[in-house]
Amino acid sequence: MSDQFDFDLFVIGAGSGGVRTARMTASIGKRVAIAEVSDLGGTCVNVGCVPKKLFVYASQFPELFHASEGYGWNQYQSATFDWDRLRDNKTAEIRRLNGIYQNLLDDSGAMVFRGRAKIEGPQLVSINGKQYRAEKILIATGGWPYIPEIPGKDLAITSNDMFNLPKLPKQAVIVGGGYIAVEFAGILNGLGVETQLIYRGNQLLKSFDRDCTQKIKDGMINKGISIALNTNVTSIEKNEQYLTVNLNNGQSITTEMVLYATGRKANTRDLGLDNTAIKLNNNNAIIVDQHYCTNEPSIYAIGDVIDRVQLTPVAIKEAMVLINHLYADAVHIMDYTNIPTAVFSQPELATVGLTEEQASQQYDNISVYRSDFKPMFETLGKGSDKTFIKMIVDNTSDRVLGCHMVGHHAAEIIQGIAIAIKAGAKKSHFDSTIGIHPSTAEEFVTLK
Ligand code: FAD
Ligand code: NDP
Repeated sequence: MSDQFDFDLFVIGAGSGGVRTARMTASIGKRVAIAEVSDLGGTCVNVGCVPKKLFVYASQFPELFHASEGYGWNQYQSATFDWDRLRDNKTAEIRRLNGIYQNLLDDSGAMVFRGRAKIEGPQLVSINGKQYRAEKILIATGGWPYIPEIPGKDLAITSNDMFNLPKLPKQAVIVGGGYIAVEFAGILNGLGVETQLIYRGNQLLKSFDRDCTQKIKDGMINKGISIALNTNVTSIEKNEQYLTVNLNNGQSITTEMVLYATGRKANTRDLGLDNTAIKLNNNNAIIVDQHYCTNEPSIYAIGDVIDRVQLTPVAIKEAMVLINHLYADAVHIMDYTNIPTAVFSQPELATVGLTEEQASQQYDNISVYRSDFKPMFETLGKGSDKTFIKMIVDNTSDRVLGCHMVGHHAAEIIQGIAIAIKAGAKKSHFDSTIGIHPSTAEEFVTLK
């Protein structure tokens, strides 16, 4: 590094993408700074994947208690739930993870700055009243929940607030039909909250396979969630301790809490982008090329702030591709095809590859295999859950184009299937694979 710079790389944002880039770059001997205005680990660790999954686990116990009776256990119907204990135990676990992130960064040699960083010029960053010269700058500032402009929007909360509620409400309205809306509908319903989901479209999780989203909707309704499709909120009013949610069909709902889960916008506020040539797209996300370089040659951006695929493993992979580009042989570019993903709804959904709708647009001759069955657990457990799996195959090449699953352990199963799809597996490879019996996953190798 030339003496004119304080750092080789200044990373803004210590979330999934920023931490990975900072510590891997520092560990190869570069001088790296990383700035974080909030808690280390970013959205995923503090108000995303991790606490969300802990809440999903918590919300599944009533069904497990119910199932346990058929398996010979007694008196689990008398279980009671303590929100404060769950919330505080979750917070303690997140604090432990924050400490691990601090140690990882310290051990790598990256210098951690706590505070809001601002870009003052193409190679100049300010934080806590001081300026630092950096040869390269990485923007990894993530996203922030977005609530549309409606009267009373300030009465609604977002997923950020869900993790530290002082008290669990008796009823809740959730607005949106994407990942966060359906995941929190399952969590709140499982914890005993009377839950209503309001979605403006006619299909929840609209980018997913249609058969699967129909199963998700049916499963959610079976578990007691009320779902209104083709409906939107026009305003929210406060009446003493209750909220009134007015809908575009003329009806109103009285509730204790309104959660808006209507997407997230790139976090570019007060970042000093005016001091650079960086360009934003219509959604306010930073425009980058295939090497994550912005319109300013010394400044790069990865993760939710570029709004390609808002998932933690994607932000981490983008970090690795960027490091390769900047400091190694620069041969890799990111492959955005066949990214597996799961929605931790109840029932759970996981998928890799093309939906039936996408496959039929891109290929002339496809076959679709389906299997819909009651999982063995529910035979004695006497729950309503079913399992649905679906595979889409290109008949010309025999390649498997997509695998989708709704049901218990879908995320765990599809992660393994995703490796086969990434490797270009054919239907004949699935057919010649021996199943593991008795399991749900064996259905994927016996589809006829
Ligand atoms: P972030 O993790 O958001 O990190 C950005 C960091 O930058 C933040 O810590 C922020 O405080 C900091 N920052 C912003 N501006 C500045 C500044 N000027 N100076 C200093 N610091 C700044 N993904 C999955 O793969 N699986 C899941 O199950 C999953 N569940 C989710 C559940 C919820 C409720 C939410 C909201 C998201 C979930 N996601 C999940 C998405 C995942 O959390 C994000 O895709 C991921 O965190 C993006 O990483 P990132 O590094 O781009 O940004
Ligand atoms: P999503 O993009 O998944 O869903 C947003 C929802 O809000 C859509 O149903 C959308 O409807 C609706 N919406 C948008 N604008 C409005 C509006 N003005 N009025 C009414 N409804 C509106 O975003 P989320 O907030 O659920 O999650 C953000 C991202 O975080 C996800 O896309 C995902 O990448 C990531 N995430 C990942 C998780 C996981 O991996 N399990 C879990 C949680 C989040 P429409 O479809 O009609 O546009």
